[in-house]
Order: sequence, then structure tokens, then C-alpha cells
Amino acid sequence: GAEPTYDYIIVGGGTSGLVVANRLSEDRNTNVLVIEAGGSVYNNPNVTDTTGYGKAFGTDIDWAYQTVDQEYAGNYSQTVRAGKALGGTSTINGMVYLRAQNAQIDAWETVGNEGWNWKNLIPYYRKGEQFQGDDFSWLEGSGVAYDPAYHGFDGPLKVGWSESQLNDGLAQKLNTTYQNMPVPVPYNIDPNGGQMIGYTLYPKTVDSKLNIREDAARAYYYPYKSRTNLHVWLNTNANKITWKAGDDATADGVEVTLANGTTTVVKASREVILAAGALKSPALLELSGIGNPDVLSKYGIDTKVNLPTVGENLQDQMNNGLAYDAKSNYSGVADYVAYPSASQLFSNATAVGAKLLRKLPAYAAQVASANGNVTKAADIERFFKIQWDLIFKSHIPVAEILLEPSGTTLDTEYWGSVPFSRGNVHISSADPTATAAIDPKYFMLDFDLQAQVQAARFIRQLFNTEPFAAMAGAETKPGLSTVSATADDQGWSPFIKNNFRSNFHPISTAAMMPKEIGGVVDTSLKVYGTSNIRVVDASVIPFQVCGHLQSTVYAVAERAADIIKGRI
Ligand code: FAD
Repeated sequence: GAEPTYDYIIVGGGTSGLVVANRLSEDRNTNVLVIEAGGSVYNNPNVTDTTGYGKAFGTDIDWAYQTVDQEYAGNYSQTVRAGKALGGTSTINGMVYLRAQNAQIDAWETVGNEGWNWKNLIPYYRKGEQFQGDDFSWLEGSGVAYDPAYHGFDGPLKVGWSESQLNDGLAQKLNTTYQNMPVPVPYNIDPNGGQMIGYTLYPKTVDSKLNIREDAARAYYYPYKSRTNLHVWLNTNANKITWKAGDDATADGVEVTLANGTTTVVKASREVILAAGALKSPALLELSGIGNPDVLSKYGIDTKVNLPTVGENLQDQMNNGLAYDAKSNYSGVADYVAYPSASQLFSNATAVGAKLLRKLPAYAAQVASANGNVTKAADIERFFKIQWDLIFKSHIPVAEILLEPSGTTLDTEYWGSVPFSRGNVHISSADPTATAAIDPKYFMLDFDLQAQVQAARFIRQLFNTEPFAAMAGAETKPGLSTVSATADDQGWSPFIKNNFRSNFHPISTAAMMPKEIGGVVDTSLKVYGTSNIRVVDASVIPFQVCGHLQSTVYAVAERAADIIKGRI
């Protein structure tokens, strides 16, 4: 029969995939197909509820990827959540809208990604954004504030605050507490302008008027679904890319398994664009014959493109929390975040920095050796030095501290912003429905533990500082009997390693970098050695960012669309 042919096939109708699908289908002569493994969640209350974070976990819209047992973190597996739905992980995430420190995006260019810097990315953060900042007077008392200069107001993605916002002046008390800390953390009216250090309230991807979650499908797909050139196949699994005959590694389609179990090939005349997420896109490359021949041959896959760094450079963060009894009862959503610099987190930051600098060559050698020298120690060492400069010279945030009051508990969440440990993800079977072997190597390098410990001590200090000290009762997690007030790093280690979880921010598994230093895609996000395959999701982000990922994923995808359209 006459199979339809599409100009572009986008694999994954998630956060990044729907941005690119929307922008490419603006040209009505361009036929776009999105292949999405999940279904529609438009009316799923676990998605739409602005107070429902976590409700979708463990349901059928959560991939709930399992890592391999984590050698440096108690030898057990971790769950890395990701959305399986039209809208992808934006349908289950925490909705936090926080970008990055400007110098971090500039570092992408420093490693050789010409044109990828903060100045060039800012227009794309703004292009996607529809900041609902006209009037937050209904939130008086909540502490929310913003600087309009940093935001976009005409994009598809609604960003702002919801009426569920806690509205009782706690924000101001927390601010006073931060100002009373031994090393104060200044107030920052709006961290989305490239300078993140400070205490602030962050906006979220919510529809403020309807008080529902704003996700990629609501922003970029549903309002445009009548476009006759924009096609979406739901409940359809992409198995691998198919190749045009010849040696030049040109994709001509995607093999898919439809909801009814039928396997078929759908044709693309121009490009195949991977947007399946950082833990899936590299696996799809490997299943298609792009990767390390040693990995592919184990599963009987012929190497079409020899690109050993596919799946390497995996970076995630480690999330943990302390909890305290509260002397009041809190109800509502709170968006309080503090981003301390190294000198605000560590009382002896200069000494900490000097010691870390001496360790970088050994760290780099350890990462390279753990992956069989697929990535080169000299390159990793250079990346680590860039990261060191970001921390100790550009003063990026070194940790993120969240306060989440709930009922009679004052909960906190925290993580080191830029862990050094790097792992990988590779297929463990030729079966396209099998989960890959995911190995983030949490806590492989000891600075990552040191940052976690110091963030925990910082939270203890916060709860020992007025006015917070008077508002909080006992520390219930971990509690002083579990980790004493004077515990050293080793004293904290068991609590941290037994209680942390993935921060669900995996990146860099198809990193945008020059090929010689381990890149998988070039600055046009095209996979090296192929003529028409791109990756546009979190896999391409070369270094971890201090904000949360989605805003940067949206911005990268917006810029990717302009690149694909030939506008850049
Ligand atoms: P995704 O949005 O995951 O899209 C990938 C899509 O591909 C999915 O729809 C998936 O179903 C589909 N897919 C995968 N494999 C196949 C296949 N073989 N065939 C067809 N389709 C396939 N970031 C923030 O900024 N703020 C937050 O508050 C925040 N909280 C988070 C909380 C959680 C629980 C999680 C998991 C993440 C959170 N993040 C947050 C991170 C952020 O949401 C993600 O980094 C981002 O959404 C990733 O976008 P993506 O396009 O790379 O992938």
C-alpha cells in the first residue's frame, strides 16, 4: 500500500519533541510526524493538579527507569522517573521554571559549541514563554515577585504562580532568616536573568487562571492540533532508525511498533529527530547502529556509524532532604529556593577550592578508566577545570535548597548543583522495549558527597537562625541522634547514601561538543557521521545547569527548530 511519507519524524512527543514539532509545522507545506510511546493525559488529574506533585509516580505514565546497582552509593538501584505521555516529563515534573547561571551556558561555547552562549539562548527562553505577570496582587503576602525584563510574554508556555500559593508571610520570614545567617544569602528578586545566587521564590509552568499544570502538550500541541500537517501517533514505540541504501548514513525512516502490536516502518524524506529523553535517545542511536562497536556487537547490531561516546557523559544530581516539626500548620504551595555560592556554603571556600583543584586530574582519570577510556582523561579534566572555574571564579550556585512546608512539617529538599561524577547509559539487549543499563555512578567522586554534606549542614544552620529557629521544633530527619550536630563528612555519609534519590535531571548522553573531545552531536545538533539525524532533547546539554532542566530544554528545542529551518 502507499505508506505516507513525512518530511520529519520526531521520536518522542515530550518536552523538546513537541516544541520542534510545533515550530516545524508552522510551515504548512512541511509534514511532521511525532511518535510517542505514551498516550494523552489532557484530563489526567495526576497531571493537571497544581498541588499533585508525585501523584503520577509509579502509574502507567511514569517510565520509572531503574539504574544498575550504584557501586558508590550503597550498591542498590535507584529509580529515575520520566514521563510516558504526550508532553513527556513535563507532565509529571515539579513545574519549577528556573533557567541557569549565564556563565554556565557560556561554557557550552567555551568547549567549542560556537554560537551556544547565554546571549544567544536568552531570546529562545523568552520565545517559548508566556509569563502571566500582569497581576499577582491576589498573591499579596506570598512574596512572589519578578523582573519583567527577563521574561517573554507572547510564547506558548504559560509560566507564573497558582492560587494554591501559600500566602501567609512565611516567605518574608524565611528571607529575614537568610539575611541573619552567619554568611547571609542575599535576596534575589528574579533568578531567571542569568544571576541565580540568592534567596527567591521561583515561578512555575502553571496556567494561573485555570490553576492547572502547563505542560508541553498543553502549550505546544493541543492549541495547534488542527494543523493538517502535524501528525501524532500515540501509544507507538519507536524501535530504531532505518537506513537508506548506501554508505553515507542517511536515515529514511523509523521502525515502530503500533498500539495494536504491529511492527512497521514509517518513512521520513528529510530528517529523523530524536527527542526521546536523555535515557532513551542514546539507546535508540545504539539500536540503530550508531555507537561503540564493542557495545553494539554484543547484541548482534552492525555498526553503521562508529561513535563510541554515545551514551557516555551521563550527569545527574542527587536529591536529599532534612525535615523539622513546625509550630504552625501550613497549607498551600511554597516556592522558596536558596542558591548559595561556594563562599556562602563553605566557611573555608578557598581551601575547599584549592583541595578540589588538586584532585581534578585524579577525578578525570577515574571517570575515563570507568568507561574504558572511551572518553579521554585529558578532555574530562578540561571539563572539570571549566566546572571548577564556574564554581570558584564565576560564583555559580553550588547547591540548591528548597523549603516545602506541609501541614505541621517544615520539609526541605537539597542537592549539590554540579556533581563531578559521570556515568553512562547503554543498551543491554537488542530488544527495543528493554530498559537500557543506566549507570549514573552517583557519589563516585568525593566532592559530590562533600557538597551534599555541606548543604545539609547549611540547612541545620538555617533552622538555628531566627526567626526560623523559633518557628521550628525538632529535626525529625535525620535527627540529631542519627547524625550528630558535630558529624564530619563520614558521619553524614550513611544517612546521605541511604536516603538520596535521583534528582531526575539526567543530561549529556548525546553531548553537543566537538567530536574530538567526545561529542555525539555538532552545533546544529546533527549526529556525527550521519547526514540527517538530530537529537534535540536533554541528551545534548553538555554540562549540568544550576536551574532546573525544563526551561533550558524548551529553549534548546526552540533554537534547534530555528537551526533545522535554516534560520541560524
Ligand atoms: P521528555 O520530556 O521525557 O520526552 C521524551 C518523550 O519520549 C516522552 O514522552 C517519552 O514517552 C517518549 N519516548 C521515549 N522512548 C520512546 C520510544 N522508544 N518511542 C516513542 N516515544 C518514546 N525540570 C524542571 O525544570 N522543573 C522541575 O520542577 C522538574 N521536576 C522534575 C520532576 C520529575 C519527577 C522529573 C522526572 C523531572 C523533573 N524535571 C524538572 C526535569 C525535566 O522535566 C526534564 O529534564 C525534561 O522534561 C526532559 O525533556 P526531554 O524532552 O529531554 O524528555
